[in-house]
This record gives sequence, structure tokens and C-alpha cells, in this order.
Amino acid sequence: METSTETSITLDFLGELRRTHMCGDLRAADAGKTVVLMGWAHKRRDHGGVIFIDLRDRDGITQAVFHEDVGPAVHKRAEEVRPEYVIAVEGVVTPRGANAINPNLATGEIEVVASKIWILNESRTPPFPMEDEVDVAEDVRLKYRYVDLRRPRMQRNVILRSKIAYATRELLNSQGFLEIETPFMTRSTPEGARDYLVPSRVQPGTFYALPQSPQIFKQLLMVAGYEKYFQIVRCFRDEDLRADRQPEFTQIDLEMSFPQQERIYEVIEPLVQRIAEVAGYKIETPFPRITYADAMRHYGIDKPDRRIPPMHPVEDIFPELASAGLPVVAIHIPAVGSASRKERDEIKAYGQERGLRVYDDSKRLERDYPEQMAKVRERCGAAEDALLILAAWAGEPKGQRPEETVYQACGQVRLYCAQKYKDRHKLLDPKNLQFLWVVDFPMFEWDQEDNRWMAAHHPFTSVHDDDLEKLTADPARCRAKSYDVVLNGVELGSGSIRIHRRDVQTKVFAALGFSTEEAHRRFGFLLEGLEYGAPPHGGIALGLDRLVMILAGETSIRDVIPFPKTARGTDLMCEAPSTVPERSLKELGITFTRPVK
Ligand code: ASP
Repeated sequence: METSTETSITLDFLGELRRTHMCGDLRAADAGKTVVLMGWAHKRRDHGGVIFIDLRDRDGITQAVFHEDVGPAVHKRAEEVRPEYVIAVEGVVTPRGANAINPNLATGEIEVVASKIWILNESRTPPFPMEDEVDVAEDVRLKYRYVDLRRPRMQRNVILRSKIAYATRELLNSQGFLEIETPFMTRSTPEGARDYLVPSRVQPGTFYALPQSPQIFKQLLMVAGYEKYFQIVRCFRDEDLRADRQPEFTQIDLEMSFPQQERIYEVIEPLVQRIAEVAGYKIETPFPRITYADAMRHYGIDKPDRRIPPMHPVEDIFPELASAGLPVVAIHIPAVGSASRKERDEIKAYGQERGLRVYDDSKRLERDYPEQMAKVRERCGAAEDALLILAAWAGEPKGQRPEETVYQACGQVRLYCAQKYKDRHKLLDPKNLQFLWVVDFPMFEWDQEDNRWMAAHHPFTSVHDDDLEKLTADPARCRAKSYDVVLNGVELGSGSIRIHRRDVQTKVFAALGFSTEEAHRRFGFLLEGLEYGAPPHGGIALGLDRLVMILAGETSIRDVIPFPKTARGTDLMCEAPSTVPERSLKELGITFTRPVK
């Protein structure tokens, strides 16, 4: 598009002009006041002798009216206004006639009869209309993000985010937490992703890493005696992007000294409750708690969606369906009634693809096994009109915790069915907020590719007091003092009680297969810190973007991040990432070994 430095009309200066009210302020009680409003021309309607301009700012819309017979010069100037021009209007607040009242507008009882207008700037025709109802392709929205952010929905989301950040600071401050910054240019933190690297010019060949989280620094702040730390902080992770991932995202990160897990819950529950309140929700505390093992058994996933009923192991009721000592699982979806043949085939195929034998026809099962099915129904608390599906593992046991493999596959079938029938009875109502804690996670996850155990949370997590022996003897069953807070199937945050003793940390590094040299090279400063009076400590980090997304009723975190990146990690507005001048590369001593496009 061409750019012009010439304006098509004469523009006014702001000069000393001051706005007296925002566009959402004025009510019938303000009638008679002379006011000055400033904002954008949302809509202009020209009825010949009368022009109406809906003037919009962050707070709302006020109708300004320009009568030709009252002020011909002002009326003429108003004729020049086009959508999104920036204007100021002076006029008198006037009650609207009874049939002109707009009940959908907070200021709908009045209008401002304009006596002056200033056109402060013009605008090219916006790439899309301001109304939320108009569907616009996301790449266009992201390219013209400054226009997109002006639309009511995005304004609501960004304002909600700001309010949530403010409420967080207020509440944590009132509880003695200190907001302390940690560096962005640092060393690698192990949160399981790749690092974004920043080359150093003054020390060629060396790199800073952008933090995947402030994990090590917040622990060192506890060593340093700050007791309670928090930060609303950007984290950077170079991962393959998925729908709800961004290369940079924001956490509400906190850490405290001398806590049990309970102490962390006592901080987080009221915080989340307050944040939800800011968004207009009333939620109950304490949140239910479930162990990781039970979450797997009943939901087949470590982030249960409690809006759908749990599944139940029923191998004791149906031993004939069990194989290799693995579980048989009843999946219960309420109020579906009988599924059609086609639907049953789809569910069956979905389960089979995941390694399950699926017994989908509850009517037939009930005919052939009436007593057993009555027991299953009772265990699930399933009403007559519920869909019941039984599933068992079809092949050889698989994985380090084989029962989990079965539960996981069943959990996928459960979610698949919930999606399938969600519209029938508002199963997945986004306004139904179901929080819970998942606790006692396993200490380790098996890494198929590298054939070794990895830290399930991160390598600074404490072992469960009862499982110290299992650290080396039975890593698959070794539990950690770690916990997740989950909302409607989304992991909102993770935390743990940390290792505060050097000897234990060394053991855990060894269990994870780090050589002494590697542990030293990567985390020497932490290990050393633990030798200087490290108190017991623990903490958690909540994903702010996801929290705001759910509370705003959005389904993409891009809609609650003012300037997000696309799924390919591109900022379409400023076109980052970008190439850099040859000179910058030279200064950094960087040459490319592959041709660069
Ligand atoms: N640093 C962890 C994370 O980013 C959170 C924590 O353990 O506090 O998931």
C-alpha cells in the first residue's frame, strides 16, 4: 500500500484542549453540562440536515449530533469525518426523545449536541470493520493488530488481563510477597524445551539463554532470605508450537520458604478465587484434590476435566474382559441415550486405534450381563439414559506403568465422546469452572527416544518422603512432592516443594543420569547456593495467558495476548523474526553454514 505524507483535509491541533469525560460516562443526570469528548468516529450517519457521529473511546460510545441549522460551519466540518478519524467534540449533554433512547448503550439516554468539532487525525479505511460480529481472518487481524486491538472484544480481553495482573499484585503484596525481577539474559533453565539463544558480541562464541522460567533464580532468592517472592514474568520456550502455545508467554511465578504443599494451596486458592471474581465468577475453595494415580485411574489424564463424570475400573466386575492383569474401564457419558449404530462404530474405531477393545453397546451388554451391568451402573452413578462404554487393552502390556497406558487410551475415548455429545446437554459448558489439584506426581517420566528417566516436573523437585528408597530401586513408582492446578482439562500451573539439600540434589541428578561434570557445568551455581544455608522452599507458576483465556471465554491464547505470534512463531505485524544486516553478523562473528533464504 502507498503511504502519503499529505493529508486530504486540514487537521486541527490538540493545543490546550482537555477532555472532560470519557465516552462511557454520561447519563441523563448530566443533562445541561457542556462537555468535551475525544475518540474515534465509530460510525457516521448523514441525514441531510443532521449528522450523527458515534464517538468511541476505551470506555464506551456516545452519540454526538450536528445540526446544520444550529451550527452550519460545525455541521460542514462533521461532513468530512470518516470511520476511525480521531476527533474531539464540544457540546451540551441533551436527553434523547423517548423513541430515540438506545437501551443497549450505557449512554443511550443522552446525546451531545455539538457546538465545536476538531479533526485531530484522519484514518485510512480500516482493513476490517470494528464490530466483533464481523469475522476476520486471523492473519489480517494480526497484521493490523493495532486496529484489531481497538475492537470491543479485544479491548475487553486486554482490560481484563490488566485487571487480573493488578488483582494478583494486590493480593500477593498483602500477603507479604515481594515482586522481584530476575534476568532475561541468563543461562539455560531446564523446563524441557529448547532455549532461545542470544549471542554475545563482547564475548564472541558465547550465548545467553532466555529463561524458560525463573526457576533457579527464584530458588536462589529463597537461599538469599527473601522468604516470599513473586513475579508476573515472561518465559521463553522454543518448542514446536501448538494451538495454545506461544514462544513467549507469561507466568504468575511464586516461591516461598518453609512451606508444606498445603501452604502453597493456601496462597493459590484465594488468588485464583480473586482473579475469577475480577472476571465475574464466584468459585468455591478449597479445590478438590486428587492424586496423580487416581487422576489416571478415573480420567486417564493428569489434567482431568471434571465437567464430565469420571471413569471407573471394573475388572473386578468383569474379570472375563481383563487381560494380562490390566484394567477394564467403564466410561460414562450422561444423558446421551442410546447411540446410533454409526456413532457406536465411530467410538469403537477411535478406541481400537488407541489399542483398546471397546464394548460399546450398553443395551446388549445389559441384556447378556444384567447383574454385572447393574453393578457397573451403580459404580459409575450412571442414570438410565447414560451411555456406558467398557474398554480393555487389546494387546501386550505397554510402557513403564502399563496400567497407565490403558487408562490414557480410555481417557481419550472419554474426551472423544464428551466432544461428540457436548451439544446435547452442555457437557463442556465453558462457564462451568471446575478447578482441582492433582498431587503426588511421579518423580520421573520415561524418555522413549533417549531411553532414560527424565524429571517429570523439573530436576529440582523433592521426592515424596515415603519414596526416598525408590529413587534408584523403583524409579517408575517414585512419587514427587509436586502438584498441578487444573481447570476444565487445562493445566493452569505446576509447582513443587524443592530439594534444598545439596546431597539430595546430587542424588537426584545422578538418578537422572547427569554426570557430576554435567551437573556442575549446568547448575554449579545452584548446587553451590544450596551449600550456603538454603531453607526448605517451594512454589508454583500459573499460566496467566491460559487463565485469562478461559475467564474471558476465549479458546485461543492469541486472543488474550496483545501482540502474539502465529503458529509458525511469526509476528505478522512487525515481521519478526527477520534477517539482520551483514555488519551485525560480523560483529557477532556469526556465519551461516547453510544458505539462508
Ligand atoms: N518453573 C516451573 C514451571 O515453569 C514452575 C515451578 O515449579 O514453580 O513450570
